[in-house]
Amino acid sequence: MALVLYRKWRPQTLSEVVGQEPVTRTLLNALATGRVAHAYLFFGPRGTGKTSTGRILAKALNCLQNETGEPCNACEMCLSFNEGRAVDLIELDAASHTGVDNIRELIEKANFMPTAAKYKVYIIDEVHMLSTSAFNALLKTLEEPPPHVIFILATTEVHKVPATITSRCQRFDLRRIPLPAMVERLQFIAQAEGIIADPEALTLIARAATGSLRDAENLLEQMVVHHGLRIETDLVRRELGLTGGSRIRELAKALLTADIPAGLALINAVAADGLDIRQFNREFVEFLRSLLLVKCGAEEMANLGAEELADIKSSISRIPLQKIARAIKLFAQADFRYAPQSTLPLELALVDYASEEGKETGLQSEPPKKPIASPPPATEPEPAEKAAPTPPIVQRIAPPPDGSPIEHIQAHWNDFIKACKGTPGQLDALLRGSCKPLAIEDETLILGFFAKSKFQKSKVEDHRYLTVLSGKLEEVFGKRYMVRCVLIGEENRPPPPPLTQSRMVKEALDHGAQIVNEEYIR
Ligand SMILES: [Zn+2]
Repeated sequence: MALVLYRKWRPQTLSEVVGQEPVTRTLLNALATGRVAHAYLFFGPRGTGKTSTGRILAKALNCLQNETGEPCNACEMCLSFNEGRAVDLIELDAASHTGVDNIRELIEKANFMPTAAKYKVYIIDEVHMLSTSAFNALLKTLEEPPPHVIFILATTEVHKVPATITSRCQRFDLRRIPLPAMVERLQFIAQAEGIIADPEALTLIARAATGSLRDAENLLEQMVVHHGLRIETDLVRRELGLTGGSRIRELAKALLTADIPAGLALINAVAADGLDIRQFNREFVEFLRSLLLVKCGAEEMANLGAEELADIKSSISRIPLQKIARAIKLFAQADFRYAPQSTLPLELALVDYASEEGKETGLQSEPPKKPIASPPPATEPEPAEKAAPTPPIVQRIAPPPDGSPIEHIQAHWNDFIKACKGTPGQLDALLRGSCKPLAIEDETLILGFFAKSKFQKSKVEDHRYLTVLSGKLEEVFGKRYMVRCVLIGEENRPPPPPLTQSRMVKEALDHGAQIVNEEYIR
């Protein structure tokens, strides 16, 4: 079956564009009243209709019998656009043509009148990929556009487009396509193509596409190519190996086992695939919520299939309810206001969760609870929960008069990390287990971060953290050092302490336990 569904079913009018009503309505209004801008910027996740909308706009602007705002799709001009032979529509993929020469060449041509159409329309896709000099060349034309030229810029990463460019464009934000609209479109296509699909199968496909209609159409096509025209729910579930859905489950697993490297890799893979990271987080929180509901025994509210429910039940059987609740809080509070497409809020939530987790696993040298049999302590110990937020009292660790300063810092590094508790941005969590002091050169402390702790290094290198770190070094070691971070091999990571050093293990051995196997969980 030789068809590329997303091309074949590309919308030909603005009203056919799925799930972007606010944008298409505004454009229709502008077209109907002849208020045309010279530069448009379409921003949105991949597969949400940016270039499709741009092409329809270009066609509508040049349609010979446009009365309502929509292109007629019947005149010679519309036909030339639909058949891909309109010479006055120039498309450039900035991802593969980033250089200034490409833009110069394009802009030189902009000064010539259109060959056949009223307007010469330039669509520059992934415009954020242009080089700085290419942006500057584009800016000159945007400042004084020839009257017959219209620019349509499209991007998935609007924050990388210079403000001088965006301020000269009329901007439209395309949203991820809502699930019902996507399912409806898939149903329409399936019917037209003679595909027999369970409604639930189409819903799964739409959900897996996380808001990208192109992804959904490609998935549907993949199903047809592999399995023919009959598409059943179970089949879809099995095929959806590599989509957001499975990533969400993998991230949940990495999170609940406090596997930071795996979690960070997943979050970044999602971003690299161009998925909307906020939407991914929403779905992730929604998934964690279903874990919570199952854990509470309210599984009928979780909206899960029988198979998935069984899977989830077994995977969370050993995870306490409070941990799931804490994970939900951290991820639900991920703040994207300052960086809508950044992975950082999720990375921070993950690290926050895992570093709290580290405190509970007993690998830190916190005093263990008294065994029940021991005599009552003289004073009532404060409950651990309450003690946690109080910053510890900082004790000055003065260097021995004749010792080497670096050896002194190395020897007291763990105490230093403890003293960092309560600092802004949880410096202690970033330092713990991620680095070690290597040397002092010209009053600068060289901190070596292990290869798998690149994330922590990139955080600590931020000047705000460096300032806090310098201040804390002075407070603890009595001398102000600058700090430089370097990356060192994973082999430099100190081996985990032998189990027998853990007080909890000692206690158990004293009570007659035997060690049968050692497994180190980071
Ligand atoms: Zn027309």
